[in-house]
Amino acid sequence: MKSIKDIDKKHIINTYNRYDLELVEGMGVNAYDIDNKEYIDLSAGIGVNSLGFCEMGWVASVTQQLCKLNHVSNLFYSQPDALLAKSLCERTGYDKVFFANSGAEANEGAIKIARKYSFDKYGKGRHTVVTLVNSFHGRTIATLTATGQDVYHNYFFPFNDGFEYVAAGDIDALKEIVAKGGVCAIMAELVQGEGGVIPLDKQYVKAIREICNDNDILMIIDEVQTGVGRTGKFLAAEHFGIKADITTLAKGLGGGLPIGAVLASEKCSSTLGYGMHGTTFGGNPIVCAGANYVLARMDSDFLYEAEQKGEYFQEKLAEIEGIEEVSGLGLMIGFKVSGIESGDFVKEGIKRGLIMLTAKQKVRLLPPLVITYDEIDKALAIIAAMAKKQ
Ligand SMILES: *Cc1c(COP(=O)(O)O)cnc(C)c1O
Repeated sequence: MKSIKDIDKKHIINTYNRYDLELVEGMGVNAYDIDNKEYIDLSAGIGVNSLGFCEMGWVASVTQQLCKLNHVSNLFYSQPDALLAKSLCERTGYDKVFFANSGAEANEGAIKIARKYSFDKYGKGRHTVVTLVNSFHGRTIATLTATGQDVYHNYFFPFNDGFEYVAAGDIDALKEIVAKGGVCAIMAELVQGEGGVIPLDKQYVKAIREICNDNDILMIIDEVQTGVGRTGKFLAAEHFGIKADITTLAKGLGGGLPIGAVLASEKCSSTLGYGMHGTTFGGNPIVCAGANYVLARMDSDFLYEAEQKGEYFQEKLAEIEGIEEVSGLGLMIGFKVSGIESGDFVKEGIKRGLIMLTAKQKVRLLPPLVITYDEIDKALAIIAAMAKKQ
């Protein structure tokens, strides 16, 4: 029989340059490959498995729902999505939620709300969404356009009108673009994830909030990666002392099931009416049962622990010889290793039983939030041995 690798290469469109690793099982922070070799997973499926692999309570909640009602269309009411929306609103202070299936889709929904909000009040033409250079917002045509990296603005022409980019941190440039008129939203990540784990400056974030307030522009914060405890707060916005008009979530929300969410404040929670937006799978009961369990687990102690572990991990990394530019917030961590490209470092890690990610020139870690100090120490020892060898 052909290997999975061969079948995959033959039949899956080759958009992913996969590492030479086939995973078959996981438990907590550990993953196991086809030869039953154990790995410490510091990637959590790119920030998705917030509770690690196959946490028992999560599996029970999801399978219970699976046996009861697997899917119901959005033409009807059902419990899991209503209760999830309620807990999300209670935890974040937002007024209403729209459920999608991914981060890109959540951002599409946010952009639609911002454009409609502006259209309702000011008519046509006030539709520009300003995003930051080096941002990442998704892979659909609109969210690719929103992504402030030239490398992504290729092949798929024409890209959408109505997006402009400013350098992160440059308040004057932002004011200048807004002064030209036509802006309906400013959209940003609070810690640029794919861009290299780069937190925005707190004063800059406050300035965005003020500019939005002064000009009746919606502030959209893309917390697809930073949200749901990743940074040690439920929303990363809590670190920055602001509340956006719209926040989007996805990756860690379902604990391993595909979900996206648009959280809208009172100002714009009634902007979309019947028939103006929708998706077949949005709010699927199984997926929402998984998310409800994740939220139930994520109490203040859990978040405090995640924040402490993140600080510990970052401090210890910074002490390792050969490791530079440690950055991040909570358990969203980036660093460079002198003398080796991030991609090569990650490949070397796989050989030594460690799964990590890259973000441009940085090595990026998004471990499950349930990782223990023991597991962090084990991972640190491997990273230190690898960094020393360079
Ligand atoms: C991953 C990511 C997205 C895209 O999410 P998908 O689920 O892959 O569509 C959007 N924004 C940010 C900040 C992300 O990290």
